[in-house]
Amino acid sequence: MIATLLVLAGLTCSAAPTRPDTIIEVRSLGEGVFLLSVPEPIDRIRVGNILLVASQDGSLLVDTGVEGLGELLVETVSGLTPGPVRYVVNTHPHLDHIGGNERFAREADIVRGDSRDPELGISVGESRTLSVGNRSVVVFRPPAAHSTADLVVHVPAAGVIHMGDLLVQGYPFIDAERGGSIDGLIAAVGWALGRARDNTVIVRGHGEPVTRAELLAYQRMLGTVRNQVRALLRDGRTEDEIVAAAPTAAFDSQWGSGFLSPASWVRMVVRGIRGL
Ligand SMILES: [Zn+2]
Repeated sequence: MIATLLVLAGLTCSAAPTRPDTIIEVRSLGEGVFLLSVPEPIDRIRVGNILLVASQDGSLLVDTGVEGLGELLVETVSGLTPGPVRYVVNTHPHLDHIGGNERFAREADIVRGDSRDPELGISVGESRTLSVGNRSVVVFRPPAAHSTADLVVHVPAAGVIHMGDLLVQGYPFIDAERGGSIDGLIAAVGWALGRARDNTVIVRGHGEPVTRAELLAYQRMLGTVRNQVRALLRDGRTEDEIVAAAPTAAFDSQWGSGFLSPASWVRMVVRGIRGL
């Protein structure tokens, strides 16, 4: 499903702040949709995966990477499509996903879950459909999870869903301090699974895309851990006791070697369910 690597775009413009060895890998996902990813960190920040839905009448970008990507992202996009960027959709307002927004702010409407402009924001539980050329792009906002303003993006014509950091290479960060919870993750994954087909490409915030079957396994993991943590909380267990009970043990071989240790993640799950 994921077609050949099209371009390795190297930086040639000396005025740009991007490091000279930075590259953007471009992969065609079909129907004018491209996955733009940056394999190496910039200033130690791992750049979130970017999607381009190209159209001569105005394209759509999902996320814009880090600020330092600047000119290279603009160059890469204009090398793939002649038209302007009409929409930027941010999967969430973290700096490794919105850093390049400024570059497109003049030409594009910036759709964020937390936008103060009611035309551009999306309420929790709601979705919005944007038109890009002859394709629809459907954007859904689950309850707070990884951040307080997560968005999931589906391009049905190309069979592509971008999950942002609701799906990463290990256990996903949950912003429990600001009301994020595993329930938001489960709602987001449920929405995506409801729309995905067997051959849909599921783009993660970071790392390689996965299949619908892998997303299904992720849903099972989230549901199992949530139910176990809930049961332990109902039994009156403390956070430390729940960590010691290792409710993720069956899943740690697959998910436990990412950014978060199993124990740190369990604390986030507990705090998100219990509330702070
Ligand atoms: Zn990220």
